[in-house]
Amino acid sequence: MYSTDANFYDGLSSVKHNVRVFFLEHQIAIEVWQDGDMLHQYLWNPNNVSKVDIGNSAVVRLYYTYNNAKQVLEINNPNTQEWLRLMYPGSLLTKEHFGTIHSKNIYVLGGAFVVVVCFLAFLYFWGLPFASDLVAKMIPDSIEREYGQGITNTYLTTETIDSAASESLNEFFDAMHIEKNNEVQLYVVKSDVVNAFAFPGKTIIVFDEIIRRTTNKEQLAALLAHEYAHVKQRHAIRAMAAGMSSGILLSIVIGDASGALGGLAQNADQLRLLKYSRDFETEADNIGLDMLEESKINPTGMAELFQLLQTEEKAVLGNSNIMDKLEFLSTHPLTKERIKNAEHAIKQKSHTVEENNKMQTHYEQLKKEIDSVIF
Ligand SMILES: [Zn+2]
Repeated sequence: MYSTDANFYDGLSSVKHNVRVFFLEHQIAIEVWQDGDMLHQYLWNPNNVSKVDIGNSAVVRLYYTYNNAKQVLEINNPNTQEWLRLMYPGSLLTKEHFGTIHSKNIYVLGGAFVVVVCFLAFLYFWGLPFASDLVAKMIPDSIEREYGQGITNTYLTTETIDSAASESLNEFFDAMHIEKNNEVQLYVVKSDVVNAFAFPGKTIIVFDEIIRRTTNKEQLAALLAHEYAHVKQRHAIRAMAAGMSSGILLSIVIGDASGALGGLAQNADQLRLLKYSRDFETEADNIGLDMLEESKINPTGMAELFQLLQTEEKAVLGNSNIMDKLEFLSTHPLTKERIKNAEHAIKQKSHTVEENNKMQTHYEQLKKEIDSVIF
């Protein structure tokens, strides 16, 4: 039997427990102690350890699912690998996850070195975004929705919602007949800033000023399709995951997603200014265009909307006061590429466009509502 101190995550919270670990013949016993009392003892079956991570330091991490909780044991003891080998020969622990270079052949070692360098470079450029994306995928829909609802509520307490216009906007969106796997909630917020954005979960916020700038229903439809594509592809939560610290990522990996999200971006106002990557923007444009096509809505609205905002951007260039109001452009940089991409996609396909009277009615209603002044 071998024993050592270790860190332990119980899979129920992100709290790190100091524990005593015993490597017994058929069991790994983990004892959580506090003030001289043993609070809990976990018994792991070594054959069921799902993963063993050996970092570049002496730290060894063991992963285990215990009553559906994903637990992690973090052992910082240089003897750990040796003990595991001695105690559990032939078990999954030793067979699957320990790789050592046995050959003394210098060329093999040299080759291994090159592979490691390439791997590190790969991790740096591709692995980190990939890892955060993986983590974002691990966050269940229900938690994302709950979290998104919290942010939305916080955000809306400081803003003025135009409820009549919000109702019309929701009706307009319904009339677009976009295939939705979940109900989305749209809000019109009174603001002289030109912006629209999607919160994590299923919320789209549209400032009335951007609706005011549109000149036809197709432009508004394009804007909503673009924002809904962000929702559908979970871009907000994925962009947030990319900015998370490794500690938060670990909390999510071990199953404490809600706790980790609680500590994130408390400031809902910052999320409004969340800048997506170019890739996300292009993806949202393309998926948005596909949605318009499927719904038989004239997709030229997308290019028109971009042109309209870009013309305005050029007109006010140099006037920083007005530039600040064009917030949509700072979070959705309109590169020439994006406009070209939209125009190209529109030209390439043959579109069947059907006049949608319902959309027209709701659009006119909406325009009236945002322009009405209530005394
Ligand atoms: Zn966007």
